[in-house]
Amino acid sequence: MRILIAEDDTTSRSILAAVLRKSGHEVLETVNGQAAWEALQRADAPPLAILDWMMPEMDGPEIVRRLRLLPTERPPYIIMLTAKGDKADIIAGLDAGANDYLSKPFDPGELRARVEVGRRLIEIQDALIESRELMAQQATHDSLTGLLNRRAILDRLQQELARTARTGGLLTVGVCDIDHFKQVNDTYGHQAGDDVLCEFSRILSESLRDYDCVGRMGGEEFLVVAPMKAKEDCPSLYGRLCLQVADRKIATRAGTLSITTSIGVAWAAVGTSVDEILAVADAALYRAKASGRNRVVYAESGIEEKS
Ligand code: GH3
Ligand code: MG
Ligand code: MG
Ligand code: MG
Repeated sequence: MRILIAEDDTTSRSILAAVLRKSGHEVLETVNGQAAWEALQRADAPPLAILDWMMPEMDGPEIVRRLRLLPTERPPYIIMLTAKGDKADIIAGLDAGANDYLSKPFDPGELRARVEVGRRLIEIQDALIESRELMAQQATHDSLTGLLNRRAILDRLQQELARTARTGGLLTVGVCDIDHFKQVNDTYGHQAGDDVLCEFSRILSESLRDYDCVGRMGGEEFLVVAPMKAKEDCPSLYGRLCLQVADRKIATRAGTLSITTSIGVAWAAVGTSVDEILAVADAALYRAKASGRNRVVYAESGIEEKS
């Protein structure tokens, strides 16, 4: 583990560093409070720090007080080092936010043991953060394709509608549905169908610009949310997408195959709700299916783009 030590006394600092290095730790040495404070604010700051109480420029308790005000998910574990055996000082150090303390002169065995307590706590904290991030990822992403799930893409749509209403831009949504997907399952099997869904998701993600987003609504239906400068820009996004899907040889575990997609596109007017825009895009998708599939149908204008 990486450990920061802040200690102005040279002898004490070298003993500390030597004991910690001998236990396999990587040690970063600082000789005053200001240097320690700066090191602990860096993104790559060590997760555990041993701070001397009395130091030039900034004392240990002051560093801890400042650290505890920083908004961070991973606060460093702090062991305060003090020559004062006085109970009041120990209480003051812990009250300032230190996790533990060690009195000088310290016993190397006790130092190792206390650092070990810190390491275990840091591991628990990291595991908790990781599992929370994983849960957040699972709550918002589709497990098969890795795209945003239905709820998450609808949340995004809601946010984008609100943003567009404020800024007056143009927002489009495209409902993309794979054509005759049931036949893919029936002919090549459900697993090959899953491969197609993953590959289709990749084509969608690759075709979009940074500020567009896409999610899986369910089954073989996907939703693209794309701000546009002008309606004329739609064909370059949705038309290109439709062509790319038709052109791509899709590798599955049952062999290579081709698919097509139909896309219904709707534009948001000021005040359009999520349900309204989806209903209009769905109606356009229905027309794309009814008029032969493998095409984009735009709501309102009724422009059709055959690929
Ligand atoms: P259309 O061109 O009219 O859209 O026809 P379609 O066959 O694509 O549409 P339909 O709604 O009849 O069939 C969709 C199929 O998608 C049926 C369902 O079993 C399949 N499906 C839904 N979710 C999954 C999935 O996660 N994996 C696989 N392999 N198939 C799925
Ligand atoms: Mg000192
Ligand atoms: Mg379909
Ligand atoms: Mg469908």
